[in-house]
Order: sequence, then C-alpha cells, then structure tokens
Amino acid sequence: MLLHPGSGYRIKDDYVEIIGGMRLRIIGWDRRYDDYENREARLIYRRDKMILWISKRIPKPKKYTPIDVIGVDINEQKIVYGDEIINIEKDTAIDKAYRYIRLAEDLQRKYSSSRYLAWRRRKRILNRIRSYHEKARNILIDWTKKISLEIVRLAKELRYAVSREDLTNLIRSLRELPKDHRRKLIIMGYSRFERWIDWQAEKHGVPYVKVDPNGTSSECPICDYKGLEEVGYRRFRCPRCGFEADRDVIGKLNVRKKGLRKLGIVPRGGSLATPTAPQMTDVNPNR
Ligand SMILES: [Zn+2]
Repeated sequence: MLLHPGSGYRIKDDYVEIIGGMRLRIIGWDRRYDDYENREARLIYRRDKMILWISKRIPKPKKYTPIDVIGVDINEQKIVYGDEIINIEKDTAIDKAYRYIRLAEDLQRKYSSSRYLAWRRRKRILNRIRSYHEKARNILIDWTKKISLEIVRLAKELRYAVSREDLTNLIRSLRELPKDHRRKLIIMGYSRFERWIDWQAEKHGVPYVKVDPNGTSSECPICDYKGLEEVGYRRFRCPRCGFEADRDVIGKLNVRKKGLRKLGIVPRGGSLATPTAPQMTDVNPNR
C-alpha cells in the first residue's frame, strides 16, 4: 500500500497515523536520515511487526577526480583489494554463513517425518530452521556492507577510484547450474556485493567503474601477456616479463589496470610499476 505524506500517513510525536486507519506507536527508526523530507511510504506487515518504509531523496555528493584506482577481486573464499603496493586480503562470509545453512539442513533431515510430531513441537522446529536461514543471510549481508564500506573509505582517504569486475555473467551462469544451498549463498553474496559497493561509492562521492572480467585471472597485469604459467598452488608466472604472484593478487592488479585504463588515469608511481619491474618506476618529481 503506497501512502503519501499528509494524505496517506502522518507522523506526530511518537505515533504514525495511517489516515482513515490506525494509530501506531513508533518503537524505533533509523535516525540517520532525519534531515531529509519524508516522501511516499509503504506499510508492511512482517511477522508480528508493522514497518513503515519511508522514501527520502538525498542529494548525491560531488565526486572528486581520482589519482589512482583500487582494484577489487572477489571469489567464493576471498576478497583482495588494493593497488600495486597496498594488498588487503580477507575471507568472505560464505563459509561462515553456510555453517548455519548446514545446521538448518541437519534439523530438516532429522525431523523430515514430521507428521509424527506434535503440532507445537513441529512449529518450534520449523522456527528454528527458519532462524538459521535468517542468520546465514544476515551474516552475508552484514559482511557485504562492512567490506564495501571499508573499500570505499580507503578509496576516499587516498582520493582513489574503485574498480570492480562486472559479475553479471558470472551470476547468470551460477544461476543456470543446479542450485544447492551453498551456490545460492554465493549468488546472493555476489549480487549484494555489487549493489553495496556501488551504493557506498555513490553515497560517499567516490568514483567507481566496473570492468570486463575476461582475462583478469589469466593475463599478466604488467605486460598484458595472455597465458600465465602455473608455478605452484594458485601461483602464476608470466613467461614474458617474469612477473609472479598469487592468483587473487593478479586478479586485483588486472581489475585495477582495467579501471585505470577505463578512467584514463596514469598513476603517480608511473605506469603499472611493481617490484619485479623497477625499470618502469616513474621518478619524475613533478608528478
Ligand atoms: Zn608479463
């Protein structure tokens, strides 16, 4: 039900008045947006609570001109972000969330012949199963919000842009595979991450780009050579220029490189300089 401010709903002191309907006591609200005008609202009944979603219009902050780019590489297990010097690696929340899904599955299995159970007990178990699923979902959502805010804050502090892979095709191909619970979590994790990082960047005035993921894990971030050689567990080496790194680091550097090119930025440290390519370091003091 879409409610318009004034004619559909009114907020007075501690109450929300739904015009021609009811008066509801406010038990809490997000105070961060109090300075912005209330617009259309939607009244939702969820479980035992009434929630009034009020839309607000918030002006976008002006974006600065970035001097460099933070590349972000994400996979099921890990997220890696930074530039050619900064390298931050963190585990994703997939495994942690999946533990709760497994607890839910165990319960489900144990009580699958539930017609033998008393109604009351059955309801309690179903509630527990549901709460485990909810817990898994919340873990994933919280992680996504937290990590995207961290990345955007770092970018803002350094006056960098954020570059991430366009995960649309990856998500689509995951959706086509048989769906188990873990895969569902991964799909949710990726799509939430895409949404949150863009939103945080938008909100904090941080420039951002999404880049084509093709070749980000197989091409040399230094000389663009396609066909890195595997030299160890998840470790690759470029036969042309000798650059060597972990797969995730290569991903991060390539995402950054693509971001730099897309935005037309020449980083201060010269082109894509790394310790293995010192001859490329730009020593021009004017930059
Ligand atoms: Zn190379």
